Amino acid sequence: MASTATTLKGQPLDKAALESMLRRRMFYTPSFEIYGGVSGLYDYGPPGCSLQANIVDAWRKHFILEEDMLEVDCSVLTPHEVLKTSGHVDKFADWMCKDPKNGEILRADHFVEDVLELRLRGDKEARGLKIEEKEEDAKKKKKKTKGQEAVKLEDAVVQEYEEILAQIDNYNGQQLGDLIIKHDLKNPATGTSIGPSSNLPGYLRPETAQGQFLNFAKLLEFNTGSMPFASASIGKSYRNEISPRAGLLRVREFLMAEIEHYVDPEGHKKHHRFHEVEDIELVLLDRDTQLSGKTTVKKVAIGQAVKSGLVDNETLGYFLARIHLFLKKIGVDQSKIRFRQHMANEMAHYACDCWDAELLTSTGWVECVGCADRSAYDLTVHAKKTGAPLIVRERLDEPRVIEEWDVEIEKKKFGPFYKKDGKTIESAILTTSQEQRGVLAKEMEANGKVVVDVPGVKDGKVEVSKDLLAIKWIKRTENTREYTPNVIEPSFGIGRILYSLIEHNYWTRGSDGGDEARSVLSFPPSIAPTKVLIVPLSSNKDFAPFTRKLSQKLRAAGLSSRIDDSSATIGKRYSRNDELGTPFGITIDFQTLKDNTVTLRERDSTRQVRASEDEIIAAIKSLVEGNKTWQDTETELPIFEGQELEIR
Ligand code: AMP
Repeated sequence: MASTATTLKGQPLDKAALESMLRRRMFYTPSFEIYGGVSGLYDYGPPGCSLQANIVDAWRKHFILEEDMLEVDCSVLTPHEVLKTSGHVDKFADWMCKDPKNGEILRADHFVEDVLELRLRGDKEARGLKIEEKEEDAKKKKKKTKGQEAVKLEDAVVQEYEEILAQIDNYNGQQLGDLIIKHDLKNPATGTSIGPSSNLPGYLRPETAQGQFLNFAKLLEFNTGSMPFASASIGKSYRNEISPRAGLLRVREFLMAEIEHYVDPEGHKKHHRFHEVEDIELVLLDRDTQLSGKTTVKKVAIGQAVKSGLVDNETLGYFLARIHLFLKKIGVDQSKIRFRQHMANEMAHYACDCWDAELLTSTGWVECVGCADRSAYDLTVHAKKTGAPLIVRERLDEPRVIEEWDVEIEKKKFGPFYKKDGKTIESAILTTSQEQRGVLAKEMEANGKVVVDVPGVKDGKVEVSKDLLAIKWIKRTENTREYTPNVIEPSFGIGRILYSLIEHNYWTRGSDGGDEARSVLSFPPSIAPTKVLIVPLSSNKDFAPFTRKLSQKLRAAGLSSRIDDSSATIGKRYSRNDELGTPFGITIDFQTLKDNTVTLRERDSTRQVRASEDEIIAAIKSLVEGNKTWQDTETELPIFEGQELEIR
């Protein structure tokens, strides 16, 4: 796959050159690198941070602002109970824990193992026993850490630790949490207890979704009870990837941006803005095609895809189209996007339909956005577990008249009559079906008493007379309807999008003189880390006040800029910033000192225009905000050719 990957201009992608450029320009770098690094963890440098912030900013505008979504920022540390109820504990087996002091993330089983081994080694030392070669080595390598002191343990404790170590791979998350608490295990590096509190086992969240679901009732109230609506959250999530080797594509800690759109399941999950997107064509790879062993895609208008049932409903279709538009807006290559439907056995336990937006990179197609129909799964399980009413109560336009069998228990007599079995019998009567009640009503009419099945009492049957129970056919009017909303969830991995965006916008400019090819990152201006490079022609001190004033004016206009007044040639200075994806360059020259005009250079074409400082700033603002193209700028401002030769 790597050999077929191409750059923005269709050139073969030299991944090593790209990676070396990203390192050199500090887009991102392995975390804790001078300590040897930790696989699957990365730090972002200045251009990486700006790029990420600009993607998140575009996301916020495209989704949260556009659709009045309700943003929340929830805790990363999540109690066991929540992830047990959501199904994650049983589904995803490796458990992580985080040291709150130094942020270190550890696999819970490895953590328990390491601490117990350290204690056993300390015990051996205290007893004057020989420490084996391997242990000695490990000990020499490490600094003296907590738990490693020569402390004699009771024999029973030694035996217990050895038994735990022998079956360490066999514990589930709950049991590991219990072991951490029972044996008061602390991180040897810091001496801190692991977890949110010493008596509440908790985990780093694998998604932001659960925090959003748990706040559903409050958000619905905030939204004055009105449906449909969406919540959204941007924050770090954690996955214990077994072999995180694919750079930013498979990491253990990553930024997620997630939307939970709550919709009434009645009425085919229609979306009131679907008509705005129905003509948008998406490249789809459906379930059946994959099951037949092929990867042939179809380009289909989303309106058609929903109509034919290929995409289940309008809300899901609406979000697939909106995801497509977002990816296009931030500069993802249109020929490298496809939406792939999950096959039945591939879907997460909570999903009933799911499409991934996949982006083509040098490592193949990568899932960058998941868009799942989670049905009513999450709200239902959390409501059932906690008793919280995670439902919508809606006033009906037309009251609904209901006719049904109703049971009335004569409480004053019922309890004293049945004594300790009273509650069980009452509950058995209250949970009878309409059909059973119909039969019981006839029996009561005929015999003045009924025999009710009550599991858990002697003989499993109880006689109830008509002075204790009445069964009546009643008519009542309902003014409200209650339902659990379904959830459509678009879930974005920002790091994967960021990396794909870099590959999609990378290309090299051939050099006339046979020098090394020069790299360019053609990010759209709105997403580029820095918008403007200011280059004074030389280090002549007369340029300094102009440079300073220009940078202040750009800042006031909300445009980020950098000054490069180094002694490198203008061409070199521009090349450096092409690598950072800076879309515009302003040169200050001797003419500027006379008439306050400057030249503006566009990164991809290297063409220039010349105009007054204020006109140039206004032009850049329009370009960054996407109101104008470079072609517009060239027709509006005088082309400048004089210096182009010099800066090439
Ligand atoms: P999922 O909940 O597994 O569908 O993941 C949602 C999104 O998170 C995916 O579409 C990815 O963009 C991102 N993601 C999941 N796992 C990782 C990972 N290990 N590293 C980076 N991004 C990830």
